[in-house]
Amino acid sequence: MNHFIGSKYDANLSIVDICKKIRTQLKDEIKKNTLFEEAKFSVRKRDYNAISIVVLEMGFNPQNPLRIQEYIKNPHSAGTGIPLYSPKGLEFLNRIKEIANAYNYDKSDTQIDYFSVNFYLDLGLHYNLEEKQREEVAANIDQFLQEMNDSLPLCPECGKKVLDSWDFEDKKGLCWDCVSPLIKARDDNEKEKYKRQIEETEQILQKLVNVFEIPGGGIIDRICFPKLNKRNTLKGYFEQLHPGQYHVQSRVMIKKVIVLTAEQYEIFSNHLLHRFEWLEECGGSDSTAEGLSSDDYYKLSPEEQKTWEDHSYLEVVKIVCDGKPAFFVNPEGYGYARYVGFSEDYLEK
Ligand SMILES: [Zn+2]
Repeated sequence: MNHFIGSKYDANLSIVDICKKIRTQLKDEIKKNTLFEEAKFSVRKRDYNAISIVVLEMGFNPQNPLRIQEYIKNPHSAGTGIPLYSPKGLEFLNRIKEIANAYNYDKSDTQIDYFSVNFYLDLGLHYNLEEKQREEVAANIDQFLQEMNDSLPLCPECGKKVLDSWDFEDKKGLCWDCVSPLIKARDDNEKEKYKRQIEETEQILQKLVNVFEIPGGGIIDRICFPKLNKRNTLKGYFEQLHPGQYHVQSRVMIKKVIVLTAEQYEIFSNHLLHRFEWLEECGGSDSTAEGLSSDDYYKLSPEEQKTWEDHSYLEVVKIVCDGKPAFFVNPEGYGYARYVGFSEDYLEK
């Protein structure tokens, strides 16, 4: 995402107004910027929300001779990876973009296919101009290569000429050879940090491998399950304990009670999405209706289904710890605390 709001953006300007302002500014640029000497532009409104800027003439040849050289050698390749324009050419085009986008904004989020801009900018060189430029470069390829090479900036690290420059933190304009080890070192460092975090978590979770467990039994009523489930922390559930943010479940069967020490309770409360052996094969719904198996619920007659429903219950694991709120976990067969609920008595306190 590259969200921005241009410094001259004004909601009262129409697309036609903006075209006028861009034209004036480009004329100004021609006077003061040597890159723009002899340049001529067409700036037009296209559709209701698009502006087309076409470069009709310009004072230098912006084509990238490396790309044209590649094309001469191999006419069927598309010159993959080689920029279309020389660094000087890109600087010229970027300046035009900068002038136009000062009136633009972009709040799009392409990941969700949401597009919101003041206008779409269509910027390019006129086809005839571009063709003329390419022919010129092709006819004098050595000279153009030499000129581009002479004008290339130098890498501040190794002093080599840089065609494609890279910035890394506070270092600007590096060549790829200099920047790539820096990127690799940063990535390695982050991977190492991540690995250490995982190891630390594993070590902490070891304390929850052996827990004190007692059989449950009995059906209780009125357990409140917050609507947003799969929270990793108990706090993520507590936050939802306002009326309307949970549903009240009747007929809850406690399959077992897990008694945790204060330390274990603290750890579990912050790692609810981790799998624990003592949560496996727990949770989900079943029924105490005699002779009716939940395995073939859909084969039951409507009356039998109703009997099954009337006697159905939700199976949970109760978590208790001295001095802490007890809570109920329905892993739904997944082995982690997929749903977490609290007794209504607790809420009333
Ligand atoms: Zn370098």
